Amino acid sequence: VKYVETILDEQPIITQKQLTLWDWIASYYMADIGDVMNAAVPSNFKLASETIIFLHPSYERDHENLSNREYLIVEALELQESLTLKEIAEIIQIKTIQPIIKLLIEKKVVIVSEELKSKYNPKYLSFVKVHEDYNNETSLGDILNALEKDKRAEGQVSALLKTVQLTKWTDQKQIPVTKKQLIETGISESSIQTLAKKGILEIFLSEISRLEESDDKVHKIKALSPAQENAFTEIKSAFVEKDICLLHGVTSSGKTEIYVKLIQEALDKEEQVLFLLPEIALTTQLITRLKAYFGDLVGVYHSRFNQNERIEIWNHILNNSKNQYRIVLGARSSVFLPFQNLGLIIVDEEHENSFKQYDPSPRYNARDVSIVLAKQHQAKVLLGSATPALESYFNAKENRYGLVELFERYGGVQLPEIQCADLEKETKNRSMKSHFSSFLLTEMEEALKRKEQIILFQNRRGYTPLWSCEMCNWTVQCKNCDVSLTYHKASNVLKCHYCGYFVSPPSSCGACGSKKLKMLGFGTEKIEDELVMFLPKITVQRLDLDSTRAKNAYQRIIEDFENRKIDVLIGTQMVTKGLDFDNVGLVGVLSADQMLKFPDFRAFERSYQLMSQVAGRAGRKSKRGKVIIQSFDPNHWIIQKVMQHDYIGMYTQEILERKNFNYPPFYRIITLQLRHRDSNLLEVAAAELGNSLKVIFKDRLLGPETPLVGRVRNLFLKNITIKFERTASPPKVKKIIADKLNEFQSQHDYRSVRVVIDVDPQ
Ligand code: ADP
Ligand code: ZN
Ligand code: ZN
Repeated sequence: VKYVETILDEQPIITQKQLTLWDWIASYYMADIGDVMNAAVPSNFKLASETIIFLHPSYERDHENLSNREYLIVEALELQESLTLKEIAEIIQIKTIQPIIKLLIEKKVVIVSEELKSKYNPKYLSFVKVHEDYNNETSLGDILNALEKDKRAEGQVSALLKTVQLTKWTDQKQIPVTKKQLIETGISESSIQTLAKKGILEIFLSEISRLEESDDKVHKIKALSPAQENAFTEIKSAFVEKDICLLHGVTSSGKTEIYVKLIQEALDKEEQVLFLLPEIALTTQLITRLKAYFGDLVGVYHSRFNQNERIEIWNHILNNSKNQYRIVLGARSSVFLPFQNLGLIIVDEEHENSFKQYDPSPRYNARDVSIVLAKQHQAKVLLGSATPALESYFNAKENRYGLVELFERYGGVQLPEIQCADLEKETKNRSMKSHFSSFLLTEMEEALKRKEQIILFQNRRGYTPLWSCEMCNWTVQCKNCDVSLTYHKASNVLKCHYCGYFVSPPSSCGACGSKKLKMLGFGTEKIEDELVMFLPKITVQRLDLDSTRAKNAYQRIIEDFENRKIDVLIGTQMVTKGLDFDNVGLVGVLSADQMLKFPDFRAFERSYQLMSQVAGRAGRKSKRGKVIIQSFDPNHWIIQKVMQHDYIGMYTQEILERKNFNYPPFYRIITLQLRHRDSNLLEVAAAELGNSLKVIFKDRLLGPETPLVGRVRNLFLKNITIKFERTASPPKVKKIIADKLNEFQSQHDYRSVRVVIDVDPQ
């Protein structure tokens, strides 16, 4: 039993609704509730609370009778600004310091505020204002007269005058000025302190916001086009009967402007709004757009945010503040916020797989969680995409969701013209220039002549993924993972994209010693390099994980491209997402085949989505754009559908495949990944778990099998996949799996085998 030292929170920081949702996540995704909470609560909330001691704002040195110990504390505080009790105890080397602090508080030497806790390290500044009693012209006049009689009070006169001037003394209301500001104008600290002692000025600590406030003027919401207006009305009538509606609108159809109108309506009803986005990378443009309409009502929340900033947003949402952060624009973790009266959730680019968290657990999908969250609040969910996830479109077709479709672009601009460069033909004709078809290069030259910008898409970063020996086919492999290393030219290393391991490039084959090494495959870095050879006079920039690591790098690149400082932007998936540029005349997809051949049942759907999305960046505002897809198989049906802008055609054919082969959305999937350092032990363990589950799931169980990359960070991997009908009860199936797992893990030999469960894997 321990004494309560201090009360952590006057009111709970977590709501009952949140706890209920987190329980749901834990059970649906078969995760530990602890893992869910860990993901949900900003880590600064989780630090033990500690009382922080500050110097009293009006404390003046040398004026107090201080004991030695007290003096030590004051000295330390003068250096540090604030200290925790524990830190003070260390400085003066005694255990019970509370009594000393208590004395110091009474002497007005230090202060301890109830809110001042390190778990939420608020930013405090000293402010100065005229004391309420003197806050009128008559009293001030009297004081000034009195002061002016005293020659030594010159400093005080200026301090008072400056304070009055800077606190904008109008209508009896003062906007306080910071002490720092006053001192910067040449006022002395001691004059301020003397006036405070006399009770004329007041010095106080006040919390200031870390979040930037936008001072941009708020723009008027745009009038919708007839097509948008139609869609808007349809969405609202869908919401009468259904809680979820899918907005399928082609790229640049003006979905965002429709969202804006819906947000405005929710705000009018005093509801909170959550705007979910797949990756923070793409919010830059959207934040600007939304802030232009809603100013400081927009709060941004994502995991790369500073902890204290996240806590500020958390508190505003929790307190249902009226003037700030009514709209949260956030990545997946914002489904964990303490909403009070959520009215609307918008999931933009709902097909994106980055809504799904893979590591660490909980492996949740924020799109799906948002539906449960909305239900709690009786809120509505709008899913938006130009290329909806098959699951979502299926749900809409099955009438579970409302469906609203927009097939025309805003302003009547046509969808881009998409053509295919036949790489087989060009290879035969010897017209390829390294990875560029002459078709693409010619089109690029034309576009550049017209002063249009170009986007090139290659879904692989680095330079070349494969260094292989011409004599014996040996390749450079990762030491920790079963994967070949990718060459990064800029840093001149071969790097593993799974574990980060890197080595210098070898000069000869590691197996036969031959010096003839060839490079196979190509990434964004190589494209950049080659392009400069073929089109020397242009400015090229890469947009991928490597080029955006530095803080704000992403933003800078996007801005430079917007301002036309860049002619060609070469990127991975990053360039496909939701960006809105005015002047892109041409988009090139360097290798459609790599995507199409990816061994996953979603490869075709993904390829369609990626290609259509990147194509959508071409010719948005005024002019029809052009897209060139390079492929050895131009007649591939997916490429054909992309060229025809035929999402529904793609859906109709692909959904049949899913049905025939028992894949989502007809079946649900749960994968169990077993991991162990010892491949033999893993083999045996996986077989045993597999067998015990096979008894129940029969041919619905696949594996155990080695995944594409069979070893990562020195752990060998085995996958077991379980499929079950959409109509089966997921809780029952999960219970069976959980029981079997418990049984398995209680066996001594297998205790060290890690089992990672992924429900609805992407
Ligand atoms: P989507 O989200 O469907 O890709 P956007 O909302 O980004 O489309 O719209 C594409 C472009 O058209 C944007 O530059 C946007 O500002 C403009 N736009 C869309 N709707 C309107 C409107 N009603 N009035 C004026 N401009 C619009
Ligand atoms: Zn590795
Ligand atoms: Zn060799």
